[in-house]
Amino acid sequence: MAVVWRIRGEMVQYDIAVIGAGPAGLFCAIHAAAPGSRIIVLEKMDGPGKKLLLSGTGQCNITHIGEMRDFLARYGDHGKLVKPALFSFTNKALLAFFEERALPMQAEENGKVFPRSRQSADVLAVLLAECKTKGVNIHCGEPVTAVTRQTAGFELVTPRAVYRSTVLVITTGGSSYPKTGSTGDGVRFAQLLGQPVTETAPALTPLLIKNFPFAALAGISFEEMPFTVWRGGKKVGEYRGDVLFTHLGVSGPGILDASRHIQPDDLLKLSFVGTIKREEFTADLSRRVQENRTWNVSTILAGYPIPERLNRKLLKLSDIPDELKCNHFSAEQRTRLVTNCTEFPLIVTAPGGYAVAMVTRGGVALDGVNLKTMESKTIPRLYFAGEVLDIDGDTGGYNLQAAFSTGFLAAEGIRKRAEEKSRMAGE
Ligand SMILES: Cc1cc2nc3c(=O)[nH]c(=O)nc-3n(C[C@H](O)[C@H](O)[C@H](O)COP(=O)(O)OP(=O)(O)OC[C@H]3O[C@@H](n4cnc5c(N)ncnc54)[C@H](O)[C@@H]3O)c2cc1C
Repeated sequence: MAVVWRIRGEMVQYDIAVIGAGPAGLFCAIHAAAPGSRIIVLEKMDGPGKKLLLSGTGQCNITHIGEMRDFLARYGDHGKLVKPALFSFTNKALLAFFEERALPMQAEENGKVFPRSRQSADVLAVLLAECKTKGVNIHCGEPVTAVTRQTAGFELVTPRAVYRSTVLVITTGGSSYPKTGSTGDGVRFAQLLGQPVTETAPALTPLLIKNFPFAALAGISFEEMPFTVWRGGKKVGEYRGDVLFTHLGVSGPGILDASRHIQPDDLLKLSFVGTIKREEFTADLSRRVQENRTWNVSTILAGYPIPERLNRKLLKLSDIPDELKCNHFSAEQRTRLVTNCTEFPLIVTAPGGYAVAMVTRGGVALDGVNLKTMESKTIPRLYFAGEVLDIDGDTGGYNLQAAFSTGFLAAEGIRKRAEEKSRMAGE
């Protein structure tokens, strides 16, 4: 295996070329490196791991502490397909990898795992230090602009050089958050090489809401909010999760996870009073109103765990003046208030686009890849790992775990192939 790198007349030999220095590419390079092997990682941006640095709002929710078998349901209907990768390098193995390199990890009560330092930069630093130890060359600011198949492997073109490689790993990520460098190049390269791909779309997206009434309350968040989704008058989904108001609509892990099932024009109904049902809330509100006839309705509403600013907004949207006394609270006003507290209706205009999507749905088709080695089924020595593949998980660390696990498995595939080759050469 050899990569020939020509630059200013110089020629350097590598064994493996990796496109993209995100978690999948770096992890693959680290584990594919064997003594004496030469590996190059080509990265388009001026530094590696730009998206990793942003992950978990800079704190890096690296994985989830749950049982691996429970991970599978977190990748939509592709869970079974990701299984070999996830089980070849589990969440526990990932934690051990970082802990052995002096980066302790910590699980939150909800199972999300972060580095104890809460710094994505520390995760990246471990990966880069390991690349250095293993002799992996990382060239930043070198976007690969073309990939072609040659008799002896692949040719990669960058603005600085042309590389020839026997083994190629594509780990260019998806198309979301393009400012981090992932702009869908890997899917285009795969397609040009003849690899099947599926349609891509933004996933884990905030939702844009028609005439969003809570824009002024952007930043308020709700823990474990129950909400339902309606289409053509029928309930099509029931969810519970953390929800955040933005300037244009709703976000937060609960919404992001549900977004894969939500379409434009769907109706969301949010409950601001937790799991208490409409009928129970009506009865409870009526009892409090009856028992406190001289109180303001706003004082009664303040008795529920609703943020104060939202409380005032809900009264306004229900046409209830601030000073309205309970003994003047009409049945219509009560019905409006109950609806707004338990089933606040919001119409989805659209899911957010790639600029705000956490991940990309679709990509390199899984049925074109040997999922036990991550090697193309039709193009020998071409490997894929990470978000460039048609894999997208829920929030909670599932996407980074998939990137690390598939990166690891691709490395295993590359090593096994190399061992097989040298065994055959020795026979
Ligand atoms: C804001 C945000 C927060 C997130 N938080 C979390 C979280 O807390 N937990 C979690 O599990 N997931 C999180 N994710 C998702 C997670 O970060 C990604 O799924 C993961 O980074 C994918 O890893 P990857 O290596 O496959 O791709 P990427 O991290 O996208 O890396 C791909 C790399 O390839 C490079 N590249 C692309 N094209 C070329 C080219 N032509 N030539 C050279 N280089 C190229 C890119 O510049 C990039 O550096 C988050 C995503 C976003 C956007």
